[in-house]
Amino acid sequence: MLPYGRQSIDNADVDAVVAALGSDWLTTGPRVARFEKDIEAVAGAPAVTVTNGTTALNAAYAAAGVGPGDEVVVTPMTFVATASGAATLGAKIVFADVEDDTANLDPAAVEAVVTPRTRAIGAVDYAGHPADYDALRKISERAGAVLIGDAAHAIGSTCRGRPVGTLADLTTFSFFPTKNLTTAEGGAVASIRPELLERARTYSRIGMVREPAKLRRPDEGGWFYEVHEFGNNYRLPDVLCALGSSQLSRLAEFKAARQRLTARYDELLADVPGLRLPIQREGVDPMRHLYPVRILDGRRREVYDRLRAAGIGVQVNYIPVYWHPVFEDLGYQRGMCPVAERFYAEELSLPLFVDLTDADQDRVVDALRAILIG
Ligand SMILES: *Cc1c(COP(=O)(O)O)cnc(C)c1O
Repeated sequence: MLPYGRQSIDNADVDAVVAALGSDWLTTGPRVARFEKDIEAVAGAPAVTVTNGTTALNAAYAAAGVGPGDEVVVTPMTFVATASGAATLGAKIVFADVEDDTANLDPAAVEAVVTPRTRAIGAVDYAGHPADYDALRKISERAGAVLIGDAAHAIGSTCRGRPVGTLADLTTFSFFPTKNLTTAEGGAVASIRPELLERARTYSRIGMVREPAKLRRPDEGGWFYEVHEFGNNYRLPDVLCALGSSQLSRLAEFKAARQRLTARYDELLADVPGLRLPIQREGVDPMRHLYPVRILDGRRREVYDRLRAAGIGVQVNYIPVYWHPVFEDLGYQRGMCPVAERFYAEELSLPLFVDLTDADQDRVVDALRAILIG
């Protein structure tokens, strides 16, 4: 089965991991600090590494101070973690609908649901295309809420020359194998606000505080540390950070390959009927994580089944988050975000990854064309 996404690992990646395994550190050594600096260079803001994109979101919401009694406004067109990372902290999740063309959180829909209890707003850079953070920021600042960007798809993307990592108050990344670079499991939180990044770091390091200036009792001794707030152990090991730095050194190459394949899909599919192709807003230079087409005329299920039967591993991104029984059981109703539901009903992600060959891409295009025209 041709996958919809997969990692690209080269010999330098293997050598970096082997070198880490032979070193004095398996976790929390020099490679963690180096990978965090490497992420900062791309994201434009200091970063802390964590165990995956799900824990990154949880740490970001914790850093934003999200807790019981708070409301968190999120997009439903995402992986469940964008919502669950705040729900598990006790917040009430409020879903706001998406824009029809980008499938990103619609600022007008957010505006309509913010209240004095809104503590955070969680946007997603769907398929790698940055959300409209300029508009979202105006709303978050007026509401006194923290703006969080789930950039699991978007490391390397820029908007008007500004890198993802500088657009929201807190930005999260995932390094799962299907994403734009991988550490197997892995993730990070970046922030342009030092106090928020510090809170994310402390939360992800079990809440342990060591800096003498921050200790309640600084004179106890060199071994001493304190826990002021509960946290979690979300540390990403040195071995995986070695892989991350090695992967990140090829990010520009990955981006170029994804953009080339995207342009090639755009061209090859331009005249196929019954299809809507993804768009790109002015000023945006996206890392193309997904190639999400829309299958019109109610044929998405049929096209999915027939492509899978032909060995082409298409995917649907995403099931509207509030459709999951965990939200349904809390009273969330289908139909609440109609634009997202229409998008979901038509969406199909075609294979897109760095090592996808032109021949395999042609096979995808020919199979899709045969189904839609035949
Ligand atoms: C993958 C993904 C996550 C979760 O990342 P993991 O590393 O798999 O935990 C969160 N949000 C979005 C939009 C994602 O695509």
